[in-house]
Amino acid sequence: MPRMKEILNLPVQELPCSEFSAENINWVKLEGGHQGGDDIALIPFARVDDFVKGESSNPACPANFRVESRRKRAMGSVAKPRVDGYLEYTLYWCSYGPEDYGESESGVVDATSAKPASGKGSRPGRRHMRRGCLCHFTVKRLYTRPHLALITYNQIRHVDKSGAPCHGIFDIDAVGTRAMYAPRISDELRHRVMSMLYVGISLDNILQHHAEVMQKQGGPLNRDAFLTRNDVRNMERTIHNSSLELLGNDDCSVKIWIQRHQKEVFCFQDNSSSKSFILGIQTDWQLQQMLRYGNNSFISYHSTFGLKKLKYPVCSLLVFDSSQKAIPVAWIITSSFVGKDIHKWIVLLSKRLRTKDPRWRPSAIFLDDPSFNCSIIRCGPSATDAIEEFMQIFVDQCAFIDYFKSHTLAIIDVWITGIKSLPVTTPEPHAAMESYHSKLKSTLLKENYVNLWSRVDWLIHTLTTEFHSLYWLDQYSLETGYFENLRDNSFSTNAWYHALHIPDVDVVLDDQNLHLAKVLSQADRNLVYTIWNPGSEFSLCDCSWSRLGNICKHIIKVATFCRSRHIAQPLLSARIYKQALLSLLNNPLVLDHTILHVARLQK
Ligand SMILES: [Zn+2]
Ligand SMILES: [Zn+2]
Repeated sequence: MPRMKEILNLPVQELPCSEFSAENINWVKLEGGHQGGDDIALIPFARVDDFVKGESSNPACPANFRVESRRKRAMGSVAKPRVDGYLEYTLYWCSYGPEDYGESESGVVDATSAKPASGKGSRPGRRHMRRGCLCHFTVKRLYTRPHLALITYNQIRHVDKSGAPCHGIFDIDAVGTRAMYAPRISDELRHRVMSMLYVGISLDNILQHHAEVMQKQGGPLNRDAFLTRNDVRNMERTIHNSSLELLGNDDCSVKIWIQRHQKEVFCFQDNSSSKSFILGIQTDWQLQQMLRYGNNSFISYHSTFGLKKLKYPVCSLLVFDSSQKAIPVAWIITSSFVGKDIHKWIVLLSKRLRTKDPRWRPSAIFLDDPSFNCSIIRCGPSATDAIEEFMQIFVDQCAFIDYFKSHTLAIIDVWITGIKSLPVTTPEPHAAMESYHSKLKSTLLKENYVNLWSRVDWLIHTLTTEFHSLYWLDQYSLETGYFENLRDNSFSTNAWYHALHIPDVDVVLDDQNLHLAKVLSQADRNLVYTIWNPGSEFSLCDCSWSRLGNICKHIIKVATFCRSRHIAQPLLSARIYKQALLSLLNNPLVLDHTILHVARLQK
């Protein structure tokens, strides 16, 4: 490590090529001084232009280096020149810097602060193209050796002040553009290719698939038609680099992710200044699914996944497709479950949906946590008595009673109140949510990830890449028929799906005793399962899956069987709805209002 006074002992680097760049030069770290830590090199002054040209056509990060400032001295004007005193001094700065339009002051992300678009008419060097790039170097024509130039690289990487790549192929937002001078492939195609890479489809298969789609489409329509091997390679590289980004500090890495994925963040609140951490994520694909399957249909809230294992638990919003499959359409990673904070992200999310479709409206929202929106209400004496009696019966089953006390007792009041006051859903969405839950569990809570559970950046990364792509591929395959063989079977094999394969003749229901139903096993014709409370929301079955607390195919089969024959008791939810309606109509104010409204309609 030389000191500044020794710079003249450095070798002068004469490069044979007509243009050369930082890559071709052997850099030396400078010791001490106010420029300590900078990379320096000596080249012949006559070659400075060749170096600037070479630096500008870096294939990974094309950018013009513009002259940010220049100073000159006349020969003989300095009596005692320093060893690094200059005759000419020029500061070159990357044309994508330094002003940063990509970052908002508050850290809360909104759409208006997004990075400027590239494409036609956006040549580097223009003010609006600046992305906060800190890459810059100085060139000094040495006073004592005018034929030599001292290059000092202060920041050799094209990164912004957060340390993340801000343009070129390492910038996630600019993937596929190569030089950013070429028009980009569309976000949709980029997302499709990235998802294919995440689920493990090879480069060759991706290109072959693309060619097939193009052929079907009947020829090129836009830049997307010309997806090249290089485009896909660049995306592969981005995937590789983004998994390396997890190495640093978690908080920092989360912030970089948020900055890089502003379009996918609909809510962010930092946990600084004693506020709770909230991060709401929704990709464009998820938004489309929510608009499509959530309108006039159900949205389900799958709450607090990984509460004990992950740093912050994941809440998922789910919609159901035509085959009763749950699709995650938003994730909220948060440390807070108080109404005030939930309200924050719900409002922002619904705004986002309404801007796309002002008439968008779900017909019902399922909650899996009765404390979600209702204040905690004390339960009546009858419920407490029932619990006392229940615990008396099982008093010698120590393990069970311990489990019951620790897991259920504390919240049973809330559950009972919830069940009394809110309608309970039918078993089909239950089954879909259960299968979503086990998918999430098998992806995130694998034992080999145990060291990563405390990291939020890892959680975000896994959800938005690997996990997201599984759901994307499933829908893509259903819609287009491609990649059938790669679909994850566990998606389409929830209890509802299995129930479709049980014929009606295998259901035995006694009209005289509606408390029980029997279902013949499909695998073993000698086996018969018993279902209690057939057709109600509280059905139980004696098969092994149901004994584990799950909704089994037998319960669902019996439920659909009862519904189609109108033989079961009316659902509790229907009764609650009827009660609510009656009490509403008994309210004179509501009655007046209704009469007025009807009168107005009749006019
Ligand atoms: Zn740059
Ligand atoms: Zn069963």
